[in-house]
Order: sequence, then C-alpha cells, then structure tokens
Amino acid sequence: MTVVVMKDNASVKEISSVIKRIEELGFRPHLSQGNGRTVIGMVGGGLPMNQEDFLSLPGVAEIAPVEKPFKLGSREFRAEPTRIVVGDVTIGGDTVVMMAGPCSVESREQTLTIAESIHQAGAHILRGGAFKPRTSPYSFRGLGKAGLEILAEARARTGMPIVTEVLSAHDVDLVCEYADIIQIGARNMQNFALLDEIGKLTKPILLKRGLMSTIEELLMSAEYILAGGNPNVILCERGIRSFEKYTRNTLDISAVPILKRLSHLPVIVDPSHATGQRDLVAPVSRAGVAVGADGLMVETHNDPDKALSDGAQSLTLPQFDDLMANLKSLAGAVGRTM
Ligand code: PEP
Ligand code: MN
Repeated sequence: MTVVVMKDNASVKEISSVIKRIEELGFRPHLSQGNGRTVIGMVGGGLPMNQEDFLSLPGVAEIAPVEKPFKLGSREFRAEPTRIVVGDVTIGGDTVVMMAGPCSVESREQTLTIAESIHQAGAHILRGGAFKPRTSPYSFRGLGKAGLEILAEARARTGMPIVTEVLSAHDVDLVCEYADIIQIGARNMQNFALLDEIGKLTKPILLKRGLMSTIEELLMSAEYILAGGNPNVILCERGIRSFEKYTRNTLDISAVPILKRLSHLPVIVDPSHATGQRDLVAPVSRAGVAVGADGLMVETHNDPDKALSDGAQSLTLPQFDDLMANLKSLAGAVGRTM
C-alpha cells in the first residue's frame, strides 16, 4: 500500500481532489486525520500510478510506501492513537477502561446482580456472552437472543455500554441490534468471512488474539476489518497456548507494548482467559495496567462456583471491588487514571 501524506495546511478541496484522483486510478482511499495531519491510504489494485502525478497535486507533501504487511492498522498510516468512543467511555485515551461481567449471561437475576455491583465498583463496560464458543457441544452454549435482551436491560439500568460476542456471520445483524461493542473471540480471529461482515459496520469491534496466533496474524485480522471500512478495532491479548500447564493459557505481556508500537489501535488485556484461575487475575491485571494496556476485561460472577462457564477464573463480586480499588492507585503510579 502507498500513502499520500498531505501538507499540514492542506485544504478540504485539496484533500478531495487527491481522493478523486485515487478513485480514478481504481484504488480505494482510506482517510486518516489527526493532529492537523491528513494521510490518505490507497488500498486495492488499481492502474499503475505515477508518483510525480500525485506530487504535483496541490497540498500533497509526500508519497510513501507502507512496507509492513498490515497497512491501515500501522503507525505509518496513522501515528496518533485511535480513540474509540462508546457512550461516555473512551477506549485508547488516558483512562484505563474496565470491562467486566460474567463469562455467560445465565439469567436475568444473575446478570443484573453482577451489573449493578460492578457498576458501583467503577466498571465502565459490561461484558457477557449470549452466544458462547464451547469446546464441547454438550456444554452451555448461551441464551442467544434472550441473553442479548438481558444485557440490554442491564445497560438500561446501569448506563454501562455492553460488549458481547458474535459467533457467526449469520447472527451479526441480531447481535448488532443490542451490542455497543462486538466481540470476536479467539477461536474466530481468523474467520475471514466473519471479519469481512463486521468490516462493513461502524460499530466497535473487540478482536481477541487467537489461541495459536502470532502478533502479526492478529494485526492482519484487524486489517481485514479496517480494510472493509470499519476503523473501530480494539485488540485484546488473552493468552496463547504453550506447553505450560499451571495456567490455562500463557499471557504474552510483551505483546501489549509491541502492539502499541506497531499499531495505533487500542490494546486491552484479558487476565481471566489468560490464566484460568481467579487467584491470578489481580496480579496479572496489575501487570496489564503497568505495561500500558488501554483496558482490561475481567470475568466476574455473583456465585462463581455455580457458573455455567468459566467459574474457576471468575472473580467474586467482593474480589472485583478490591481489584478496582487496587488498580485505581496503580493507574495513578503509571500516569493513567481509572
Ligand atoms: C470469552 O470472552 O468468554 C471467551 C470465550 O474468550 P476467548 O475467545 O478469548 O476464549
Ligand atoms: Mn469466558
């Protein structure tokens, strides 16, 4: 991909004539604007282009190739961080955003109890699965539409936006009607047909790293969504498979600063799926904040021993209260707020 970098004072008219020229050549223009600077990416195959042709257009500063395999997600395309605004929450800003809630929406009472409690404790966004990817087809696979309705009621009561997973392209419209952020789970990170579908939306996407995926593969999956036209992608490090058996997965903590260096997209850490054990959730959450994550996603339950999924890694409600208090002081120490 090639990017056209506009001069700092380029006018709207100059920018639109560059866009027009890009389209005439058969490329798709992708605009990035921030800190007074405009960069226009040229995506797709078009006619051979003559750099001089562009350099002579008014307002153009330079033409630069993006060498990395990920383009629109790269810092070369957009230097300043992407901020994703959902309701009154900003992901990718100064505040560490806490997403919390049960692994699965199990009942109205369970979800409302958890939502009220975590909201009191200061959580920003409510999570909960209505469509659950389960290893066994005999395990609880979620309440489906009824679960989405419960999440919507919890949002109405607390004001917290909701993040929930979509498992298949077939359910995208339905989940979109309810969710504020759509989660693509680790198992679907490379479901390219699904990525194409959600790329057509503008709704924010929480993209979880695949169980056996490299950092570059995660960024390439994000690229599918960005190239489809949806600029609102949040990356999530949730641990990868390794030979280690003391934890459910192995949290790749260095992935956070690496992703932040390579990409302008916000990055969050999921300490629950990373460890599989509630005792490890607080220390690993602290590590995530310390290393620069833009947020955390923590499974929390009012009665984890009876949870229908992921009880062993779910914090109790009092444990979640303690974690929030603890992280607030830690965030201050690393120049963030919570
Ligand atoms: C989840 O968030 O409950 C979940 C299934 O996560 P992952 O896709 O990371 O396993
Ligand atoms: Mn879970």
